[in-house]
Amino acid sequence: MDKLQRMKELVGTLNEWARLYYEEDAPVVSDAEYDKLYDELRSLENEAGFSLKNSPTHRVGGAPQKKFEQSKHLQRLYSLDKCQSKDEFYAWCNRLVKQLGSLPKLTCEYKFDGLTLNLLYENGKLVKATTRGDGTIGEIVTEQVKTIKKLPQTISYQGVIEIQGEGLLRLSQLARYNATASEPLKNARNGAAGAIRNLNPAVTAERGLSFMAYNIGYSDKTFSSQTEMREFLKAEGFEVEGDFALVEDAEKAMNYADTTGEKRPNLDYLIDGVVFKVNEVSLREELGFTEKFPKWAIAYKFKADEMTTELLDVVWQVSRSAKLNPLAILEPVDIGGVTVSRATLNNFGDIQKKKVKIGDRVFIRRSNDVIPEITGVAVENPNARAVQKPIVCPACGAPVKEVGAFLYCTGDYCAPQIVSYLDHFASKDAMDIDGFSEKTAEQLYNETHLETAVDLMNLTSTDLFGLQGFGDKKIANLLASIEKSKRTTLDRFIFALGIGGIGKKTAKDLIKRFRTLENLKSASLDELSSVDGIGDILAKNIFDYFRDSNNIEFVDNLLASGIEFDEQEEKSGVFSGLKVVLTGSLPTYKRGEATKLIEDNGGEVASSVSKTVDLVLAGEDAGSKLEKAQKFGIKIIDEPEFKRMLGIV
Ligand SMILES: [Zn+2]
Repeated sequence: MDKLQRMKELVGTLNEWARLYYEEDAPVVSDAEYDKLYDELRSLENEAGFSLKNSPTHRVGGAPQKKFEQSKHLQRLYSLDKCQSKDEFYAWCNRLVKQLGSLPKLTCEYKFDGLTLNLLYENGKLVKATTRGDGTIGEIVTEQVKTIKKLPQTISYQGVIEIQGEGLLRLSQLARYNATASEPLKNARNGAAGAIRNLNPAVTAERGLSFMAYNIGYSDKTFSSQTEMREFLKAEGFEVEGDFALVEDAEKAMNYADTTGEKRPNLDYLIDGVVFKVNEVSLREELGFTEKFPKWAIAYKFKADEMTTELLDVVWQVSRSAKLNPLAILEPVDIGGVTVSRATLNNFGDIQKKKVKIGDRVFIRRSNDVIPEITGVAVENPNARAVQKPIVCPACGAPVKEVGAFLYCTGDYCAPQIVSYLDHFASKDAMDIDGFSEKTAEQLYNETHLETAVDLMNLTSTDLFGLQGFGDKKIANLLASIEKSKRTTLDRFIFALGIGGIGKKTAKDLIKRFRTLENLKSASLDELSSVDGIGDILAKNIFDYFRDSNNIEFVDNLLASGIEFDEQEEKSGVFSGLKVVLTGSLPTYKRGEATKLIEDNGGEVASSVSKTVDLVLAGEDAGSKLEKAQKFGIKIIDEPEFKRMLGIV
């Protein structure tokens, strides 16, 4: 195709996408898909040596919308230069070294994925809030921004100052909002942008936004560094992200990027990268600006976690708790280097809420370790067909029962339920029956009518003899593994029972509290819900489980097969009864080593700081956990103190 023709086409498509995104709050593609065409356009423009008049490359952000009044920022909000690989980042560092003689100290911060805002304070009052717009002129959204609860409306500084940061919708808040919303939001970024750029501030208020401050624009007070600005923002009561670092070399900066990338799936808000800035303002002045970017800052972008693709079909799978889960079959799509062809739709209620139909183009979000999720429809297909609610179980044909948003198979002999339960029962963290896989469970279910865990524990060589793939050796090995598994610990056994909602950690916590199976069986609802991490629903599940005669019989029959519990030795020592949180990197111990030392000496290691934590062991670059510990007044120790407590000198 003619290159000019292609440029025209790209400009048209990109402008339409941007219009839908910014003016209608109705994105039809993911950012990654937009960026891909944008980059193609930019390289065609570079090749051609010119650009079309209405090219989106002339713009920094979205065009301000007509209906909002506009305002010129006192200081331009530049966009940031981007890099996507370590090599590109090191090349940027080399340019700094060339210009300054050595690499200056760099600040490391999150790159938030929300809507950038510029707040003007005068005489200590918030007088105007604007969106970033094209970087020079933005839209006035003061009334909308004033609905952000934690945003200071007054500050102690009396001069003229612009505070910049990101308007965000926390993911926990998004979930809360969507739980009752008639029109669920497709994602947090769009939810935040749509809330702020809504002419009715009441709508903004409903969404419950947050504001993270990270920069100072125009100011009649001089700041000498980014760290000073940050301290100022904190002191004035703005929320700032706690995970901030100041580093001296490029490698440490990349370490920060890596660890942040690991934390990203567990953060309560969206980030799409990290930002590095030269800390000293005097050095920034020396470096200056290009036409579009400051030369003293760069954004390191993470790989995409959201794309769009076509929904080909929805199938229903039966889980071991008899729940029917809708699984989306997708046109395979690459998301951040991983090919995704299946995604979850949670439940039937969720499908209806999101108005997802087979044949539509949908948004897919992927985070680590979790099955990708469909978050909403990108483009409706006029020929799409609705997802049908199953009335019978697709596996066994038994009627389906509806409980809340969920569907359950009512069949007693539903193969997938039985097979996946047996697989769970034998799994590593449960009874740990070596050599018994889901495939074995399926084969034994189909060929020997092995249907319960009691059958499994009482398996004999006669049952297995003659089965395909079962030679003498394999039979002997499997029976030996089953025998071996009967000597176990009570927490494994409880986990293996598969009581709804009990994971291996909860099983451990229960045993720590109740010690014996008898105590657990007779525990009252109050006693159960007093265990850390057990809420009312879970407590009721456990309580009900041990009051169902079928379950009691099942447990008794399992025990009768010869299951015995090893005494779970209570480790004791200097950390007995203490809940400890580790944060930052310790000078000599690795995290795993320190954890083991704490546990071996009677302590419990928790992953996050809450009021129930007794002690925080903090190393270098300790971030938000340390701040939180200080806020709660929790005792904080360093490695030398840790060693002293253990008697290691
Ligand atoms: Zn079924």
